[in-house]
Amino acid sequence: MSLEPTIRRAPIRVLRDSVARKIAAGEVIDRPASAVRELLDNSLDAGSTEIALYITGGGIDSIRVVDNGWGMTEEDLRLCWLPHATSKIESEEDLFRIQSLGFRGEALSALANVARLEILSKPAEEESGHRLVVYGGQLITLEPHATRAGTVVTASDLFYNLPARRKFLKRPSTETNLCRSTFLEKALPFPDREFKLFIDGKMTQFLPLSTLSERVAQAYPDETRHTKLHELVGSGAGFQFRIVTGSPESFRKDRKHLQLYVNRRRIWDFSLLQVVEFTFSSYLPGGTFPLCYLFIEIDPEWVDFNIHPAKKEARIRNTEDIRKRISEVLSSFLTSQGRTSLRSLQFAGYSLSMDPTSLTRDQATLWVREEPTKGGLPTSPIYSSALERENSPSLEPSSTPTPTPFLYKGQVFGLFLLVEWEDKVYLVDQHAAHERFIYDALIRDSVPQPLLIPLEFSVDPDEEARVTENTPKVQPLGVKVEQIRPGRWALIALPAAYQGAEEEIVTIMKTQIGTVEVLKQELFARIACKKAIKDGEGINPLSAYEILRYVFSLDNPRCPHGRPLWVQISREELLRGVRRIL
Ligand code: ADP
Ligand code: MG
Repeated sequence: MSLEPTIRRAPIRVLRDSVARKIAAGEVIDRPASAVRELLDNSLDAGSTEIALYITGGGIDSIRVVDNGWGMTEEDLRLCWLPHATSKIESEEDLFRIQSLGFRGEALSALANVARLEILSKPAEEESGHRLVVYGGQLITLEPHATRAGTVVTASDLFYNLPARRKFLKRPSTETNLCRSTFLEKALPFPDREFKLFIDGKMTQFLPLSTLSERVAQAYPDETRHTKLHELVGSGAGFQFRIVTGSPESFRKDRKHLQLYVNRRRIWDFSLLQVVEFTFSSYLPGGTFPLCYLFIEIDPEWVDFNIHPAKKEARIRNTEDIRKRISEVLSSFLTSQGRTSLRSLQFAGYSLSMDPTSLTRDQATLWVREEPTKGGLPTSPIYSSALERENSPSLEPSSTPTPTPFLYKGQVFGLFLLVEWEDKVYLVDQHAAHERFIYDALIRDSVPQPLLIPLEFSVDPDEEARVTENTPKVQPLGVKVEQIRPGRWALIALPAAYQGAEEEIVTIMKTQIGTVEVLKQELFARIACKKAIKDGEGINPLSAYEILRYVFSLDNPRCPHGRPLWVQISREELLRGVRRIL
């Protein structure tokens, strides 16, 4: 299956009104960065393999894009700046199989109205090129002009005629940064094309032809310098994807490097971004995010970009299949990562005194209790109580561990974390321990954080009654839910520690009845269970240490369901077992 777009050159025409009306309308150019987006899209659609962007004075003074694409004829130039003039679609049906980045025929016409627009262009096969100047929505010049094959578009003096709009712009340095981000977003999914960025005359970015992961590394050198980037692939009916990701150790404090591209456009699709976040969540400290770039190619018939004027959203019909496959591919990668690093660690003898210090204070408070019992570990009888329910006779009743660092020796049966500590080995149930860890983090975190995109959900009348009743009860926990209209609600904010369990929260809101306390218990147990690392999953040693350190400091080391977290065997017991002592 090939999902590579095939765009062919066609003459420009002005769309019939009936087609033009079907196109999501809205402001196309509201700041320099949106002009950059539209111009780079045009160069990419014209099959260019070399594209240079020049930004001067924050893009307010001028934006220029030079490409080596297929260019425009004199007739194309005459039409290109008119509203709804496009070579990319002709009919309504074309809207359902869009291969190009542009299709609305509005960018150049918008620019012609808000800036001084000059276009030099020459198709490779034509003798001479032409120059078009449009100013204040009026054609000023269209004349033969010597230029090389390709197109040079210059938009200068942005919003010269719209002082109100101009006032809304930020300082030039901020606008420049926005232009740079747009440039990188455009260049990322096209590693087979060369991009250059010049800011105020100086080349600040050169992105040569490369592989996808090299392109990510070139685009974000500071963020990716210290991590190995992995490229994963997956596919299913009507879609294929590539994921460029750092190892779980390269987590970030924000979602800036959790990016999604669908058919080479950056979009914000909550459910697809969420599956990445969720799959990573059991490998990352709470409140942190992976460095992960997701590039999905979806059959154009399955996706509709004609719902947002800047094409930042899309309606995707096979989201569920795609989510499932992404989660599988990422999970198996993460598992393999965990296993490999564990193997190498068995020789290294990683000790707790080598405390991981890469966590910032904020993450640390969420991730582990701030001050694990000073001076070592508690001397309570819990170490034996954890064993009370285990009736295996080979397990010795426990004594009090002394405060020495423990050694994490790796994972056993895909479930137990094996720990050597003084004269005992401990087998800690990773799921139960992580569950307890998350549960306690939930109790401490009740600061609501607004969701990037509210999670909307439908309810039947019975559910609606329960949601209405539960809404004020969960508010003190930091969970905010709002009615949009009868039958339709949205989850709008929740504490960072709850992230990744949005669907559980919605289910509980719809189904649970009871007091605030009952609701809270149910919510916490369900979220912790959902987010905790599962039986059979690999775990990275850093996370294993954090969880172990936490649970070893507890007064009552039991999971939220009351089960013990570990079993232990003494050295003596083992020696007896092989009859070294009697
Ligand atoms: P759209 O991209 O939605 O078609 P635009 O207003 O951005 O609308 O551009 C109008 C038309 O001008 C495009 O359809 C294309 O044919 C032509 N065009 C614009 N920029 C270029 C370019 N850099 N190279 C070749 N053709 C271009
Ligand atoms: Mg365009």
